[in-house]
This record gives sequence, C-alpha cells and structure tokens, in this order.
Amino acid sequence: MNEIILNAPKMFDLSGRVAFVTGAGSGIGQRIAIGLAQCGADVALLDCRSDDGLGQTLEYVVESGQKAISISADVTSSEAIAEAVKETEVKLGPLVLAVNAAGIANANPCEEMIEDQYQTLMDVNLKGVWISCQAEARAMIAHGKGGSIVNIASMSGVIVNRGLNQAHYNASKAGVIHMSKSMAMEWVDRGIRVNSISPGYTATPMNTRPEMLKQTKKFESQTPMKRMASVDEMVGPAVFLLSDAASFCTGVDLLVDGGFCCW
Ligand code: NAP
Repeated sequence: MNEIILNAPKMFDLSGRVAFVTGAGSGIGQRIAIGLAQCGADVALLDCRSDDGLGQTLEYVVESGQKAISISADVTSSEAIAEAVKETEVKLGPLVLAVNAAGIANANPCEEMIEDQYQTLMDVNLKGVWISCQAEARAMIAHGKGGSIVNIASMSGVIVNRGLNQAHYNASKAGVIHMSKSMAMEWVDRGIRVNSISPGYTATPMNTRPEMLKQTKKFESQTPMKRMASVDEMVGPAVFLLSDAASFCTGVDLLVDGGFCCW
C-alpha cells in the first residue's frame, strides 16, 4: 500500500475560505450558510427578504466563531450582485466558495399562466443563478485562486412532479443543471469547479405553509424514504461539493431526494 498522506476529515475543512451564499435568509440557503461557517468559512449572506431572516443567519454564523456580513440585494440585478461580491472581497477577503440558493416557486396550469408569472420566475431561478455565477467567477478568475460554486437546482429539473402544474419552475431547474455543467466546462482550466445539488421535497417555508399541509403529506408518501428532507440534510452535500473532498468533481448534479428519482 502507498504511504497514506491524506487526512480525510481535513478534506472537508473550509477554514480560511470566504463563501458567498444567496438565499441565505431562509430555508436551504440559510442552513447551508451556517454549515459552511461551522466548517470554518467566513460567509457573506445575501437575500432580498424584508424580515429578519438574514439577521438570524448572521447571528448563527458569528456564534460559530466566523466572520460574516449580510447584504440585502436582488439576484436579478447584475449591478447589485457585482457590488455584493466586491463588498464581500473588501470585507472578508478573496471569494473562493459560492452557493446560489435564492429561488422562488409557484404553480399554474400552462394554458392559464400569464407571461409575467413565467418571466418573473425565470428571472429569479435561472437568470439570477447566471448573474450570480458570473459575478462569483469574475472574482475567482481575477484573483487567480480558483474556486468552487454550487447551484441549488431541484429534482424538478430531472422529473415532472406529479400533480404540480409548474412547467416554468421545472424548466428553470433543468436550466440550472445544464447551465452549471456548461459553466463547469467553460471554467475548468481556471481552477473553478461548478456543480449543482438537486433537492427532493424539503421542509422549508417554500412548502410548509399551512395551505400546503395536504400537499406535503402527498410529497412524503411519494418519496421512497416516506418523508421530506430536513434542511440539515442539504448541508453535507454542499460542504462535500465545495470542499477539497470533491476536488475531482465538476459538472456534477447531485440528487438529494430520498430516492425519489429511482422510481
Ligand atoms: P425559501 O425558504 O423560500 O428560501 C429562498 C430564499 O431566497 C428566500 O429567503 C427568498 O426570499 C430568497 N429569494 C427569492 N428571490 C430572491 C431574489 N430575487 N433575490 C434574492 N433572494 C431571493 O426556499 P427554499 O426551499 O430554501 O429554496 C431554496 C432553493 O432550493 C430554491 O432555489 C428552491 O427552488 C430550491 N429547492 C427547494 C426545494 C424544497 O422542497 N424546498 C426542493 C428543491 C429545490 P423571499 O422569501 O422574500 O422570497
């Protein structure tokens, strides 16, 4: 056997690295941002929420001993996101990790949906990820240290959810998966890895509203593991893909769906 030179737990250590997380004021983005801090990263937290979601995330990150800044901005504005990345680098240092989790969901039968509903969702879910990746990669290319980007797609980019009329959402997520692979190839020789995570049904404000109660029971029964994911279960996959443990992974879409897409 060759000499063992790897320290496996260290491969997941994010100490000394600066991360940028969109959608950090709620749900999956919030929990991943806290998880990155617990693994040693300093984190810039971005969201457009008007409540105190970002403030709560900031408190958790600071409690875990890491530096954090919070930025209120909209991922559909390329100027605002470029400015946010600039502020991150000035206050925390060179950006090497990014998670793009900001997103919205809604439903309507295709034949009834007005163009505005389609366009607004596409602007946030697909163009917003493009804008975010562009700003993050520009910073990574400029400082030359490379980096790792994870985009939050969805299993809805791979399957069509039974009973949900959301062709625009499904298309936006299929777009995120393929755009991530395409960016991974564009930036492979700049030392930037780009991967996506495709969560299955996850218990977040997006789908635990009281009016969704009946729906969530259905989601649970349709999932082979017979439950929804907790947001905690998105942290490990994100840390893995961002960390040196995934140094040979790029252009991967990691399904985290309790087995949903097997059936
Ligand atoms: P969430 O709790 O609603 O979190 C999404 C966050 O993104 C919210 O704080 C939201 O703010 C923010 N956001 C929305 N539009 C934005 C914009 N234009 N600029 C900046 N921030 C914006 O939902 P989640 O379930 O954690 O979703 C996170 C990601 O996972 C989304 O991309 C979603 O599509 C994906 N996903 C979720 C599930 C699931 O079952 N929950 C499954 C698969 C994939 P507001 O609340 O003010 O809109």
